[in-house]
Amino acid sequence: MATDRDITATIDALPGLDASAPPLEVNDLQVEFRTRSGIARAVNGVSFSLQAGETLAILGESGCGKSVTAQAIMGIIDSPPGFVTGGEIKYRGVDLLKLPESQRRKIRANRIAMIFQDALSALNPVFTVGFQLSELFRKHRGMSRADGKARAVELLDLVKIPAAKQRVGDFPHQFSGGMRQRVMIAMALALDPEVLIADEPTTALDVTVQAQVMALLAELQRERNMGLVLITHDMGVVADVADRISVMYAGRVVEEAPVRDIYASPAHPYTKALLESIPRIDLKGQELNVIKGLPPALTNIPAGCSFNPRCRYAQDVCRADPEPPRFALTPSRTSACHFWKEVKGDE
Ligand code: SF4
Repeated sequence: MATDRDITATIDALPGLDASAPPLEVNDLQVEFRTRSGIARAVNGVSFSLQAGETLAILGESGCGKSVTAQAIMGIIDSPPGFVTGGEIKYRGVDLLKLPESQRRKIRANRIAMIFQDALSALNPVFTVGFQLSELFRKHRGMSRADGKARAVELLDLVKIPAAKQRVGDFPHQFSGGMRQRVMIAMALALDPEVLIADEPTTALDVTVQAQVMALLAELQRERNMGLVLITHDMGVVADVADRISVMYAGRVVEEAPVRDIYASPAHPYTKALLESIPRIDLKGQELNVIKGLPPALTNIPAGCSFNPRCRYAQDVCRADPEPPRFALTPSRTSACHFWKEVKGDE
C-alpha cells in the first residue's frame, strides 16, 4: 500500500512537473453538454491561475458555469452528456487532461480536493464520520484502521468539532448543518491538498454559522498555504476572504480583478449589478436592487454580448458585434465589456 512518501515520489516524477508553476492553472477551458434541446456551452473559454496561499472567488448567478468549471477540474462531469471539449487544466505545469486517468486520479485525490455545497448528500449516511475519514487514510495511505481512526479524531479536532473523540463515532445526520460542513472540510483536508475548491460551502447555513465556517476555511488555508477556489453567488461572502474575483456569466469570465478593485469600481455591468443587489442596512425600507431578467439558457445564448438583454449600458454594437474579448485594464485586471471605462466611471 502506498505511503505519503510513495505518493509524493510518483507525482513529483511526472514528466513536465514544475514545482515553481502555479498549483492550478486553467486555460481556455471549454465544456459542453449534449442535450435533447441542443448543445449547452456551460463553460466557454474560462482561464485563471491560482497561486499557493491565494483565494480566488468565482462569482455569478446559478447556471453561469461556476460549478461545472469546478467539476471539470475535479474530473467528475457525467459523460455523456457532459464533455470537456478544449483547453487545459494544469497542476504545476502538467495538463491533467492529457494524463492517463489513473495518474489524473492520483493528483486529484492527493493534491486537489473539493468541498461540496450539500454536506448531507456528499457524506454517506450509513457510515460514521470516523469510518468515512479513516477509510481515506486506509485507501490512500495504507494506514491501519486504528491509525486511521486516530487521524480522524485529529482532523475533527482541527476543524473545531467539540468532543471530537466522542463524535467520531456519530453518523452524519447526528451533526448540525454547520458541523457537517466542518466534517466535509476535514475530509477535503485529510490528504493535505495544495488546492481546495469550495463550491458554495455555506449556502445551506444560516448567516452566523456561515461566518464561522468561512473563518475556519480562511484560517486553515493560511496555516497550510493552500490555494483556495471559492465558488459562490454571494458577493457578501467573498469580501473578507478573497484576494481576487472572477465573475462568470453565461459560461465566460466577464471580469477578473483584485478584490479591492472590484468593490471600489466594478468594470463590467454585470459585476456592478451584482454589487448593487447586496442588501444594505443603510437602505432599510427601500426596495432591493435586483438584476432584471434571468441568465440565458446555455443552449440559446444571445448573439453579441450575452449580457445585452439585461444590460443598462447596452448599445447597438453590443448586439451586432461578437462577444466582446477580455480587455486588459491593468496587468491584473480584465473586463469583457466594450464600455468598461463608462461602467468604471473613467469616462
Ligand atoms: Fe453591456 Fe455592452 Fe458591456 Fe455587454 S458589452 S456588458 S451589453 S455594455
